[in-house]
Amino acid sequence: MTFHTLSTYFSKLEATTLRNEMTKILSELYKEADKDEIGKLCYLLQGRVVPLYEKIEFGVADKMVIRAIAQALNIKPETVLKTFKEEGDLGKAVEKLKVKSQKLKVSTKNLRISEVYEVLYKVATSTGNGSQEIKAQLLSQLIRDVDPLSARYIVRMPLGKMRLGFSDQTVLDAFSWMIAGDKSLKDEIERAYNVRPDLGFIASQIKKRGMEGIKHITPTVGTPILMARANRLSSSSEILEKIGECAVEYKYDGLRLQVHYSRKQKRHAELVSASSKNKKKTLKQVQGDWQMTIKMFSRNLEDITEMFPDIKEAIIKQITAEEVILEGEVVAYNPHTGVFVPFQETMQRKRKYDIAEKALEIPVKLFAFELLYANGKSFLGKMYTERKKKLKSIIQKGNTIVYAQEIIGKTSQDIEDMFDDSVAKHFEGIMAKKLDGLYEAGVRGWNWIKFKKAMSKKLSDTIDVLVMGYTMGEGKRTTFGVGQFLTGVYDEDQDKFVTTSKIGTGLTDEQFREFIKRVKKLEVKEKPKEYDVDKLLTPDVWLRPSLVVEVGSDEITRSAVHTAGRVLKPSKSGKAFDVATPGFALRFPRLENFRDDKKATDATSVKEIAEMFKKQFQKK
Ligand code: AMP
Repeated sequence: MTFHTLSTYFSKLEATTLRNEMTKILSELYKEADKDEIGKLCYLLQGRVVPLYEKIEFGVADKMVIRAIAQALNIKPETVLKTFKEEGDLGKAVEKLKVKSQKLKVSTKNLRISEVYEVLYKVATSTGNGSQEIKAQLLSQLIRDVDPLSARYIVRMPLGKMRLGFSDQTVLDAFSWMIAGDKSLKDEIERAYNVRPDLGFIASQIKKRGMEGIKHITPTVGTPILMARANRLSSSSEILEKIGECAVEYKYDGLRLQVHYSRKQKRHAELVSASSKNKKKTLKQVQGDWQMTIKMFSRNLEDITEMFPDIKEAIIKQITAEEVILEGEVVAYNPHTGVFVPFQETMQRKRKYDIAEKALEIPVKLFAFELLYANGKSFLGKMYTERKKKLKSIIQKGNTIVYAQEIIGKTSQDIEDMFDDSVAKHFEGIMAKKLDGLYEAGVRGWNWIKFKKAMSKKLSDTIDVLVMGYTMGEGKRTTFGVGQFLTGVYDEDQDKFVTTSKIGTGLTDEQFREFIKRVKKLEVKEKPKEYDVDKLLTPDVWLRPSLVVEVGSDEITRSAVHTAGRVLKPSKSGKAFDVATPGFALRFPRLENFRDDKKATDATSVKEIAEMFKKQFQKK
């Protein structure tokens, strides 16, 4: 398939906001795509050249792209900048400028997807001295070679501004549409993706072998597994009612980590390649030759291995299995008092520089609570008790990695004692786990139930919201340029973000400054397509879906202007819409934490908000 054909699909996708329509367009695209190209195509759909969990980023900013366009079209950077300002988007700008230049009969090539992919891959992977110049050169050549529409997307891709307006969910659903013509295979495809969240891999498997290609996907060391998530309840009796006698662990207040570790001897790989004649010799040669892999992923699948050299060292010392995928919570502690510190302080370890010094200043422990894979065997389908037993057996005693001890909660009293104990130790509450529950990759199920400290307040628990835009500030806040933030939650059914609140209070000046620094990088000219926002709440500046924050609030109320859970019906005249069921809103929301470990779709869901709303009434 040519990149031009792909670009016409991109433009069709860009033109619609309807999820069903997008799914159908995508399934048509997959049908037309070549089986050797579909993997690459799927990365490009995400505006990337590798799966999300691989660290490769384009590292390209507006300024450089402006330079590349100017060079490609032999015009002044000022001309590009002017068109950029008029269009508000460099993609549209280059398209317009290319149309003009084509009138001068500049010839273009009809490049295939894989040809464009190769160049973009080089752009993303060139690093070090002089790499900016190389990137600009490569982009410039591509822009010169392609037609105007293709140039629109080639420019947007490295800038991370594809504007197609859907998440992986829709990309996955479209596979079901391609095979079955409906969404009947959606769950099965999603299950495979949850264990191997690599769209390119899933796509090429399906294209080559149909559903058979993804039936037996098992964990692989080095490829993160989408993490299981917990539901919430607000009392010990509710927990017992829901899952009966259960395991109860502390809910540590830190950063979730999925550790991948392998220290296999090279023997196997070498032997495979050796002929039977010299097998013995090969064995001898490679004896003692270890191949070590250690990777650590955060909850949004970011590779954060470099952040924790101390944990890396501890893994080598304390983990006895040859190959393992385990999960735990990293919690920092005060080295003088030994007291555990809140999440925000643990996050100070997330930095690019002075990593080793910070490791001494802010030491951490990893409380290991899950085993997903060990020595060639998947533990995803094993019961909690079996997973924990194996986990315990592969951790040697030490200072850094600690087995997350559970108690068995038979009565409300057992659970509450553990809860009080947890709070006294400065943790967040407890996690109750179903004894025969399996590990549900990527799913918020009832095998894990969280019961948090904040639940004693009127509104149980905090909520994670996506920051969608902001209004300009007034008074003191004008110094910062930001007044209130429009925030929202995730509507899984629609694959959209819907609003619940405007937040202006609860921020210290320092938080405000930090906030602004972050949001400035996310500004976009138009409302992102995946946002469903009432006109009355239109902010001055839109932000692309990226920044998640944790907010506390007094109560969930109903509101006609917020779109979370809101249902509209056609008005009597048939020309407009009336509110049939109002949406959910947060009363007195206030910012508590940045949640850099969560991606946009990890924000609290509308379903959860609806549950919390219902619970409030039961309490009253
Ligand atoms: P929340 O972020 O409030 O949805 O709570 C879920 C998070 O609690 C998980 O992603 C973990 O980071 C954290 N957590 C802390 N302790 C545990 C534990 N014992 N088991 C599972 N998750 C835990």
